[in-house]
Amino acid sequence: MTHTSHYRGRFAPTPSGPLHLGSLVAALGSYLDARAAGGQWLVRIEDSDPPRCPPGASDTILRQLNAFGLHWDEEIRWQHNRYEAYQQALDELVAKGLAYPCSCSRKQWQAFSVYPGWCHEGVSDPTKPVAWRLRSDLAKRPITWQDRLFGFQQLDPNALGDVVLKRKDQLWAYQLAVVVDDADQGITDIVRGYDLLDNTPWQGQLQEALGLPIPRYLHLPLVVTHDGQKLSKQNLAPALAEDPAGIRQQLFKALQLLDQAPPDTLAQESPETQLRWAMAHWSVERLVANAHRRY
Ligand code: GLU
Repeated sequence: MTHTSHYRGRFAPTPSGPLHLGSLVAALGSYLDARAAGGQWLVRIEDSDPPRCPPGASDTILRQLNAFGLHWDEEIRWQHNRYEAYQQALDELVAKGLAYPCSCSRKQWQAFSVYPGWCHEGVSDPTKPVAWRLRSDLAKRPITWQDRLFGFQQLDPNALGDVVLKRKDQLWAYQLAVVVDDADQGITDIVRGYDLLDNTPWQGQLQEALGLPIPRYLHLPLVVTHDGQKLSKQNLAPALAEDPAGIRQQLFKALQLLDQAPPDTLAQESPETQLRWAMAHWSVERLVANAHRRY
């Protein structure tokens, strides 16, 4: 495929299990938005937390994407190869006085809604292992951004608290890793589920603190069960179908959940034909700005 724009999008699953209908909607939305813009679409496996990632889950996800016709550009990015880059970013934040070590345990501050910042002026208990946190109280406020679907957003960083960047067990937290990799991969557009909307201010704070470009954001309605629960491994959301009829039907369902109003006849077509139709007709304007979509 020839690329006619600077658009670079990505799908960035945490390989904690196989993809389900909810993750297909996120993958498909980011794919269509990129392809309709003549842009590139990358896949990044966010496996910075190995205990949460059972062996084989990444292979399953990549096989599922291929089966649904969602083919990516460039090499897959794996976060487990990127620890040095995350450390460099953390070092930079520490040098700027924007990140600090913290020995407090959650139990100590459970009476507060967010961590109260007791270690701002030095670690409370130097004998304990430390996590590294971002100083939200020093951020420019309020944090604002424009979501392409949900519109103008505004949040006071103090209300968010000092997010953990590196955990006590030395593992890298999602917030730092995602920002470093989105910038390193030149991502211009982030399209993902509504469940991540309230993570965006932390990511904005980090982008600002590290002098990184701010991508555009489009959060997609989250697929929920009939009783309003997010589809997840915890509530045993079924993995995507692997047989041709099931694949056609679920891809069609995902287009409906993205409010693209596919014609009924498309449900019988191959993934390639469905995707060709969807790329030609992709319209963010059709998306209804509800946080949730029941399936
Ligand atoms: N890895 C995150 C997840 O699977 C998504 C990251 C993102 O799209 O920013 O929930």
